[in-house]
Amino acid sequence: MKKILVLEDETSIRSFIEINLTRAGYEVIEAGTGAEAFEQLRLHPDIQVAILDIMLPDTDGFEVCRKIRTADQHMGIVMLSAKTQEMDKVTGLMTGADDYITKPFSPAELTARIDAIFRRTGSSGQAEPGEIVQGPFRLNTLNRTLEKDGVNIKLTQVEYSIMKMFMDNPRKALSREDILNTVWGRNYFGELKIADVNIRRLRIKIEDDPTNPVYIITVWGFGYKWGL
Ligand code: CA
Repeated sequence: MKKILVLEDETSIRSFIEINLTRAGYEVIEAGTGAEAFEQLRLHPDIQVAILDIMLPDTDGFEVCRKIRTADQHMGIVMLSAKTQEMDKVTGLMTGADDYITKPFSPAELTARIDAIFRRTGSSGQAEPGEIVQGPFRLNTLNRTLEKDGVNIKLTQVEYSIMKMFMDNPRKALSREDILNTVWGRNYFGELKIADVNIRRLRIKIEDDPTNPVYIITVWGFGYKWGL
C-alpha cells in the first residue's frame, strides 16, 4: 500500500484529500498539527509522500518540510496553500518540497499530482528477493548490478562491494579499516588510501553532485557513512 501523510488542520479539506486519495488507491495517514505529523511519521516509517499545509496551529508547513528533509532526502513532499503568492512557492521549494498545490484544487488535479510524485520518487517498487532498494538505488545482489532511478550504473567489482557494504549498513559510520577488511579482505596489506580512491570514483558514479556528496558522506578522521 502506498502511504501518504496529509498534514492539514482544516478537517473539511483534510477529509476531501483523504476521500479522494483513498479512492485513488492510497493509504492516507492524517495529522492536524506539526507535532501529530512527526508522531505519525515515527509510527509509519513507510510513509513515502507527505502533503503539508502551510498555515498550521503549532508551526508552519515550511518548518515541517525542512525537518523532514533533514532526516529524509527521498520523501516526496507536496506543499499545500490557500495563498497564490509566488513567494510561498519559492519558499516551499527552497525548504526542500518537490511540488506545490494551491487551494482550491479538484480531485483530478490532486490525484494527478500525487501519482506523478510517486512515479518520480520511484517508491512504488518493492524490493525483489536478492535486491536492496534504498532511495533511488536498487542493488541486485544476484547479478551484482546497481541501478539509480532505473538507470544502470556500471561498477567495478570493488565498487560493487563497497556499495553493498554501505547499503547493508545504513547511516552507520564505517572506518576505512572496516571498508578495507570487508572489501579487500583481512589479509590485504595495502594503504588505507585505496579505500578513499575507490570511494572518490564511486561518488562520481552515484552522487548527483560528487563535490557535495549526500549518499557517501565523509566522517572526518574516521571513514565514511551511507546517508540513506
Ligand atoms: Ca491551515
